[in-house]
Amino acid sequence: MNSNDPRTLSAHGVSKNFGEVQALREVSIDIPAGQSVSVMGPSGSGKSTLLHCLAGILMPDAGDVSLGDEPVSLSSDAARSRLRLERMGFVFQDGQLLPELPALENVALPLLLLGRPRAEAFGRAANWLERLGLGGLERRRPGQLSGGQAHRVAIARAMVGSPAVVLADEPTGALDQATGAEVMRVLTATAKGAGASLVVVTHDLTVARWCERHVEIVDGRVLTDVAAEAA
Ligand code: ADP
Ligand code: MG
Repeated sequence: MNSNDPRTLSAHGVSKNFGEVQALREVSIDIPAGQSVSVMGPSGSGKSTLLHCLAGILMPDAGDVSLGDEPVSLSSDAARSRLRLERMGFVFQDGQLLPELPALENVALPLLLLGRPRAEAFGRAANWLERLGLGGLERRRPGQLSGGQAHRVAIARAMVGSPAVVLADEPTGALDQATGAEVMRVLTATAKGAGASLVVVTHDLTVARWCERHVEIVDGRVLTDVAAEAA
């Protein structure tokens, strides 16, 4: 494992409790740049909690998370927000797009929040929409897109800031099987093409199959962690 790579996402001994519930128990994982990883496990096993700790949305009670040399879990709220905007992309099942905004503005949003010039933000957003086969749909609002198209917009938004890491929680949960497979094909290929690592939380084996590595979480612990070939 090349821990000097500035894009390696690492959790070391991460524990997280919610009151009496031990959601994560000393979870350690290194995710090198460009690797896609599925996180599977029963409902309530700690998958989302792990993703949120990796993203710096939640602070662990013990252990630490880092992205290359940058601490994710040790810095201030503001620093973590900025780190997320600058270095991470997110694809979520629900509420992933703002319904009032056209596709172009939904995609440009992370760059606008970082204070990038509007021309640059919209230019990059248009470029990502084009790359994801959505050229011509820039002015559509999410409600005017199919489920698969809306997910591609969400992928474009996750990628627009050239993230080191893309994090997805049940990204295809609201889609039928065929559309979900197409979204996973696009998501894994896009992240790989950009050299970003990808962490996909899912309870669906057909979704996980698109990833190169499979981590199984049970009762807040990593039970198995295997390369796809051996899965
Ligand atoms: P999964 O995503 O695998 O379904 P979660 O990570 O969401 O599981 O939850 C793991 C455990 O932590 C569950 O027992 C859940 O009820 C609990 N939990 C998660 N988030 C919270 C929270 N904000 N407050 C209290 N308990 C929580
Ligand atoms: Mg969850």
